[in-house]
Amino acid sequence: MTLPTDPAANLAALIRCPSVTPIEGGALSTLEKMLKPLGFSVERPVFSDDGTPDIENFYARRSGNGPHLMFAGHTDVVPVGDEASWTHPPFAAEIAKGEMFGRGAVDMKGGIACFIAAVARHLGSKGGLKGSVSLLITGDEEGPAINGTTKLLEWAAAKGEKWDASIVGEPTNPDALGDMIKIGRRGSLSGSITVNGRQGHAAYPQLADNPVRGLMTLVEALLHPVFDNGTKDFQPTNLEVTSIDVGNPATNVIPAKAMATFNIRFNDTWTAETIQAEIHNRLDKAAKRKKYRAGKTTPVDYELVWRDRPSHVFLTRDDRLIEALSGSVKAVIGRKPALSTSGGTSDARFIKDYCPVVEFGLVGKTMHMVDERVALAELETLTQIYQRFIEDWFEQGAS
Ligand SMILES: [Zn+2]
Repeated sequence: MTLPTDPAANLAALIRCPSVTPIEGGALSTLEKMLKPLGFSVERPVFSDDGTPDIENFYARRSGNGPHLMFAGHTDVVPVGDEASWTHPPFAAEIAKGEMFGRGAVDMKGGIACFIAAVARHLGSKGGLKGSVSLLITGDEEGPAINGTTKLLEWAAAKGEKWDASIVGEPTNPDALGDMIKIGRRGSLSGSITVNGRQGHAAYPQLADNPVRGLMTLVEALLHPVFDNGTKDFQPTNLEVTSIDVGNPATNVIPAKAMATFNIRFNDTWTAETIQAEIHNRLDKAAKRKKYRAGKTTPVDYELVWRDRPSHVFLTRDDRLIEALSGSVKAVIGRKPALSTSGGTSDARFIKDYCPVVEFGLVGKTMHMVDERVALAELETLTQIYQRFIEDWFEQGAS
């Protein structure tokens, strides 16, 4: 029996499973085939919820005496887009000029392929592990993420699973392997503001109440002043107005309603609750301003609705975990990675409620793009980094 020590072979097998969310596509069965010969026990719970597709998830554990390391990731991939634009078919894992093409190559079947190869090599050379390793893999990261990591964590914890640390294999490196380890993430919140005015003739504004004036006043208060100047670990909190909608086709009519939506990425100066309170406060104050609404006696009539669940900000402070990983990067490629909290949210925001978590994977440049691909040399290097990390992290845990 051949063990899954070759990350390129592992990745090719995974890419050939067309697992576009919510379809399993054979990807989890492929993982199961790789992990069982390495002594992992495998479970594949299916989660459902109203209005979202059922999702198959995956939890594999190899038990041993000592600390418990969890590798987390997802086998689902985003759609291929215009298939005709791909230089090589998106589910064929073809190799050209030292690169493997395929949807999920970097986001993030590649990370999983390398981690499994690293475990297989470690077991091959050491014969065992000084603790437990598990793989917590969802098929619902790129989709609604309702039947994915959150439920999988709850399900595993309810069975008594406990972890000492987690590494998420998402593509964290902007340009080259070893650039960046993510040790936290900003929080994220979205909201919509609707301003109710009074419709009327553009020539008789005194008889109407133009909601665009009110909306301008409110939006201005969200954009200025800045929320903060950043912290030691985080960039400044930033709010983007993502849409302004009036939907008024007539040039001589003052509309009755105007809407804006925004998204805010906030740092550890705030919690989701305090940033919400700050935004409410700014809007309430601004509603009374007369700058664009001279002569109006009532404040801007508005409603604010928060969209979706907030993503909470977090920062991992487990020095042993961070040191083991950044030390492994240094040992393999000769330079220390930056410790960053930049970028979008990831499933690490759910894992952080269970154990310290860091993220490190491939280079993200081609993720979600046509011709997503990864250099074979990079797969080999990431495998070596993961292997070194497994060795060092357990070594320290055992001492
Ligand atoms: Zn991903």
